[in-house]
Amino acid sequence: MSGLLFEAPKTYSIPVNGEDAAYPVNRIFCVGRNYAAHAAEMGVEVDREAPFYFTKHPSATVPTGATVPYPTGTENYHYEMELVMVIGKPVFRCSVADAPAAIYAFGSGLDMTRRDLQLAARAKQRPWDLGKDFEKSAVFSALTKSAELGELGEQRIHLEVNGDVKQDAHLKDLIHNCYEVVADLSKYYHLAPGDVIMTGTPAGVGAVLPGDKITGGIDGLDPIDLTIGDKE
Ligand code: MN
Repeated sequence: MSGLLFEAPKTYSIPVNGEDAAYPVNRIFCVGRNYAAHAAEMGVEVDREAPFYFTKHPSATVPTGATVPYPTGTENYHYEMELVMVIGKPVFRCSVADAPAAIYAFGSGLDMTRRDLQLAARAKQRPWDLGKDFEKSAVFSALTKSAELGELGEQRIHLEVNGDVKQDAHLKDLIHNCYEVVADLSKYYHLAPGDVIMTGTPAGVGAVLPGDKITGGIDGLDPIDLTIGDKE
């Protein structure tokens, strides 16, 4: 055997502030229900024992500033504003104390969600893939290296739709903080450069429609925006 039957799938990447080279995306892990007020609005109990996860394919990656089509299969397309962190060195079964050294950079992100499909799957105790892991559902700002962000906690995380504030919280509201998430996830995966982690969304999630413009930000990080196009 030699060669590939067809051209290898594209590599997706995220720009890094201060670097010419971009961060290549391999796996995208997402934390569920990591802010108490969001878990409450979803009608579920918070599990403070440990985080839980779902994943998105790297080809879900979309840069900030894009216009994405209103996706097929949903009548309830939601935004979720999230802090994003990316891994910079291999870690496996790392401690919370060792986790900061594994994080290369942080950014702003949107975990776009087909909420009706997610909730239907949840009700039937099925996986969330159709609701969460679909094309152009992971929106990322340029990354800021972790040393430049400083201590995490007091930063405001917010999102607006057409200028109206919908989500407004602080990173200290995270139930499982970034370092706890890295330590926990590394019990189950050999984390490595290319791994992107979306840390969960605060309360205030809601639907958008064609023509809407989403903006959002986290203090100290690049902002994010996304325009919703026509139904595909
Ligand atoms: Mn989310």
